[in-house]
Amino acid sequence: MKFETIAIHAGTKITDTHRPAVQPITLATTFEHHEDSVIYSRSSNPNRNALENVLAKLEHGEVAAAFSSGNAAGMSVFQALEPGSHIVAPDDMYHGLRNQLLGIFAGILDVDFVDMTNPQNVKNAVKKETKLIWVETPSNPLLKISDIKSICEIAKEKNITVVCDNTFATPAFQNPILLGADIVMHSTTKYLGGHSDIMGGALVGKTQNEFWDKIRNVQISGGAVPSPFDCYMLTRSIKTLPYRMKGHAEHAGIIATYLENHPNVEKVYYPGLKGHDGFSIAKGQMTGFGGMLSFLVKGDAVKADRVISRLQFFTNATSLGGVESLIERRAASEGADTKTPQNLIRVSVGLEHLDDLLDDLNVALE
Ligand SMILES: *Cc1c(COP(=O)(O)O)cnc(C)c1O
Repeated sequence: MKFETIAIHAGTKITDTHRPAVQPITLATTFEHHEDSVIYSRSSNPNRNALENVLAKLEHGEVAAAFSSGNAAGMSVFQALEPGSHIVAPDDMYHGLRNQLLGIFAGILDVDFVDMTNPQNVKNAVKKETKLIWVETPSNPLLKISDIKSICEIAKEKNITVVCDNTFATPAFQNPILLGADIVMHSTTKYLGGHSDIMGGALVGKTQNEFWDKIRNVQISGGAVPSPFDCYMLTRSIKTLPYRMKGHAEHAGIIATYLENHPNVEKVYYPGLKGHDGFSIAKGQMTGFGGMLSFLVKGDAVKADRVISRLQFFTNATSLGGVESLIERRAASEGADTKTPQNLIRVSVGLEHLDDLLDDLNVALE
């Protein structure tokens, strides 16, 4: 099956004798004991099984685990590690997961943050206790590109697990497992959900090995699982993911070029621009450049806030990946200790008509 067909058909696992055309929502928390049956909804339920099936197939993995948020998915990986394990993580990492490592896991896990745009930095950071390399590409919010294949080769030599946060690229444009990663992570709150109305996270494993069994145990015993309704919603959204992503990437590419040529813009971060540091690696490992971009407004935070306040179709809000365009001055969301430039604006380019988006930006940037 091709990607578009998987997205539509792999999320349906009907057991109902009426044979509905789409997976019904099964709200039951418990199921009558019989052979091969689902037992209790924290362990598994028909909607989560259907969702995990489509997620695994989209990312070319053998197994998938769905969670109640992207952060819960990420935390499950960290919880599955032995105390004292060392992690190599990117210096531009989703701040919520970075904060988990520095806060919740302080004293339990040891972490070094490195600039992964150069794989040599990863190699240099690896030590005897390294059990996990965490990759995020394109990264949030600087759209840094890391070479997944090269990093996986470094990891393989030392038997280190590689997890790749694929939230920005989505399986429409990048399949880390095909490039050597062991596990793919998603905040399904973003593009997979696609309409800013579902919280969720997911992990997809290349194979069901010992480490995966530990993750599965954290999912089931920890219990940060999505509801049947959320699983249903997400499975429904995934059906249009391939076509939504084409639109997001087309719009983002054009807007990135527009911004690059604007006199009031200092710099644009979009991996599809030829001048982007990671352009050639992105071109090699992605089939599209995605719908996220960031740019620096000429001036300070006040100037950037003024641009945002003048926009009509870009809502000033955090999060990303929905059909509606969102924009934010990222440093304001990341808190006091952020390294993100104060004049950086992050854009989640939506699926409104491109002319309306360009007109809006034109007025705001005047
Ligand atoms: C949003 C996000 C997360 C966290 O996901 P939640 O669903 O908000 O918990 C992790 N990684 C990236 C890249 C994200 O954008």
